[in-house]
Amino acid sequence: MEAKQFRNAMGKFATGVTIITTDVDGEVHGMTANAFMSVSLDPKLVVISIDERAQMLERIRKSQKYAVNILAADQQELSMIFAGQIKEKKEVAFDRLSDLPVLNGALVQVTCEVIAEHIEGDHTLFIGKVTDIQVEDGEPLLYFGGKYRQLLVEEKIL
Ligand code: FAD
Repeated sequence: MEAKQFRNAMGKFATGVTIITTDVDGEVHGMTANAFMSVSLDPKLVVISIDERAQMLERIRKSQKYAVNILAADQQELSMIFAGQIKEKKEVAFDRLSDLPVLNGALVQVTCEVIAEHIEGDHTLFIGKVTDIQVEDGEPLLYFGGKYRQLLVEEKIL
């Protein structure tokens, strides 16, 4: 099987879009990721999957903590910034939640402490124990078939 076929097949799984954030020695780093899922309710655990080529890998290994910011429909530009799809440097402001940098306007901010790391092939899975959560109302940014998408929200006729 060709790598392209695998990529295309996995791209048919529609997801939300997150930005993973962490800081090491006061320097904030963010990375766009859609390999995120909830793992356990009791205890509350999530997982992210980081490419071995990503700068984020060593940052999380050092900090042993990360935040997952689930993006709202109007945050595609942020996703592009933190995926390196917009080349010029942009200033991004961060809020703080449980001593981690988080993105204002995200639908959900989840902060985690790393409790396990599994290297699997060319990615590393970081299991995070959830330490805090902040939730806002709104519509999500979606990703499907290698493209950003939005939910089609039907106007309610009252
Ligand atoms: P860099 O390439 O150094 O950083 C990424 C970008 O973020 C750079 O442009 C940098 O300037 C900017 N940036 C970082 N910190 C800041 C800051 N504090 N202020 C302003 N800008 C900043 N990769 C995975 O490993 N796992 C995934 O699950 C995953 N899912 C993805 C989903 C989507 C929809 C997309 C588009 C990409 C995904 N990627 C994923 C790829 C990943 O986002 C890119 O490869 C990314 O460039 C890797 O980031 P990096 O840690 O190497 O850091």
